[in-house]
Amino acid sequence: EARVVLVSACLLGEACRYDGKSKGSSRVMQALEGKEVVPVCPETGAGLGIPRPAVVLSGGTGEAVLAGRARAVVAGTGEDRTEAFRRGAELALEAARRFGATVAVLKERSPSCGSQGTHVDDKVVAGRGVTAALLHAEGLIILSDEELSPP
Ligand code: SF4
Repeated sequence: EARVVLVSACLLGEACRYDGKSKGSSRVMQALEGKEVVPVCPETGAGLGIPRPAVVLSGGTGEAVLAGRARAVVAGTGEDRTEAFRRGAELALEAARRFGATVAVLKERSPSCGSQGTHVDDKVVAGRGVTAALLHAEGLIILSDEELSPP
């Protein structure tokens, strides 16, 4: 059983979401009882502000962004955020390695943290965001906040 768990900071009540809100989850808090928790917010970690314009992936899911076949862009304006999203994913991976986390609990549907669904070109599609894609590729077990058992 995992002792150290990487967790999307917004699920722990940190107001780091694009809209300046948090997504504090009692279900997540309960599942983390007794664990060592490593909070990460890839987007603010990469220097994107709070609040910030909503970003979607364009042309593919997180794996495609990492492979250079898709981009992260501001919804509506198309302004490029790919480098920040890649850097945020790298920071999350570094934190996981530094603290020995083998499991990550990530916020569903985020273009960074989504693990079963994410926003691609105006739709929520099955697939991972950029950070979830990198952590998965590096062997971490990814759990969505929505698949943890309810309290
Ligand atoms: Fe930060 Fe991920 Fe939460 Fe978005 S979903 S606010 S990137 S921790």
